[in-house]
Amino acid sequence: MKVFKFGGASVKDAEGVKNVATVLQKVGYDNTLIVVSAMGKTTNAMELVIKNYFENKAELQSALQEVKKFHNEILLDLFGNERHQIFEEVKSLFTELSNFFKINKSPDYNFVYDQVIGYGELLSTTIISFYLSEIGIQNHWLDVRSCIKTDSYYRRANVDWEVTQGLINKNFNKDILNITQGFLGSDANNFTTSLGREGSDYTAAIFAYCLNATGVTIWKDVPGVLNADPRYFENATLLHQISYREAIELAFYGASVIHPKTLQPLQRKEIPLYVKSFLNPEAEGTSVSKGKTLEPEIPCFIVKKNQVLISLSSLDFSYIVEENISEIFSLLHYYKMKVDVIQNSAISFSVCLENTYNNLDKLLQHLKAKFKVRYNENVSLYTIRHFTENAIKALEKDKTVLLKQLTQQTVQIVTK
Ligand code: ADP
Ligand code: ASP
Ligand code: MG
Repeated sequence: MKVFKFGGASVKDAEGVKNVATVLQKVGYDNTLIVVSAMGKTTNAMELVIKNYFENKAELQSALQEVKKFHNEILLDLFGNERHQIFEEVKSLFTELSNFFKINKSPDYNFVYDQVIGYGELLSTTIISFYLSEIGIQNHWLDVRSCIKTDSYYRRANVDWEVTQGLINKNFNKDILNITQGFLGSDANNFTTSLGREGSDYTAAIFAYCLNATGVTIWKDVPGVLNADPRYFENATLLHQISYREAIELAFYGASVIHPKTLQPLQRKEIPLYVKSFLNPEAEGTSVSKGKTLEPEIPCFIVKKNQVLISLSSLDFSYIVEENISEIFSLLHYYKMKVDVIQNSAISFSVCLENTYNNLDKLLQHLKAKFKVRYNENVSLYTIRHFTENAIKALEKDKTVLLKQLTQQTVQIVTK
């Protein structure tokens, strides 16, 4: 069997949904599961709904209305008239969501986030499933929450592989196309959980692992994995074939074309990953598979924007040693900071991180009790894999370098 993943960009409007059908017809969909994300920027819109629920109740309805309007336009384009049953289905999803807001008593932001955020995916897969049926592509809609079981670490839940394996095999229908939601799961109490932003690639890998897929294809708005993000670098070049290891490294350093958790389950079963263009489905794209010789021969550039660089030094010129470092790391873990680079000297310690969960102020307060703290927000972290002197020079031009770290294959540069 094979797994396809269609991300938000591929289903950002009615044309995108129609194109999903075209891709399926062109490349075939026997014994296939498709994992689909929320349409376009819906997840961001849902994040605003959640924020308003907690911080600005007066704007809750208008934020919800935006999401409704966006989907309604797509529905009208796909189905023409409002008498189609899909309108009822979509309406009942919104009713379910409104009911949640009415009865919820939990003040836990992360819990509420996960109960709400997944409506983006529930809407997109319901709409696409109906559309595919409408044009004659028979399909089986799977609720991913009855397939992927996780712990209750809301917004970054961890998969229970054993239970998940059984559930996925029980629910998958070999006879027709299966369609399910990316990025979600459920915990032991059947509350919805999510796997982290951009986690739908990972969902595809989870299904592929549990169903022993022959391959996973993630359909993107780029021709494949390039040696740089074309949004930020000119002349980005396609990497035709790379090893799991190289892909893991690129994703880890922030090449956002593949979610970093995707590779590990695939690598364990040697399931190839294909990254292809949804606009040109028959083109070769990138294939990620086993092999030492599959290293790119050109430098690969990765940029992460909006990072925070924190520099700590001891208050009394004492050394920063194992004990302080372990304390710093437990705070970083506690505040769910994603650490990208660390560097230490005798009396100082620098860390470049991502403030994903908006805990920076709390972290800084905690650190200030123990250390002299300096920090820079809005810095960029550049990584060059397989760097050359020229590549570094070109990158550093016109930038202020705040931190730089070299290993054999990789240089990381924090700039302002
Ligand atoms: P999805 O629609 O599946 O969520 P994403 O937007 O997350 O897709 O991923 C595709 C985007 O990843 C591209 O539009 C591109 O800007 C970005 N990207 C970052 N690094 C790379 C890279 N090395 N190669 C190709 N695309 C990259
Ligand atoms: N819709 C989710 C997000 O935007 C998951 C995904 O697209 O991968 O983060
Ligand atoms: Mg994405």
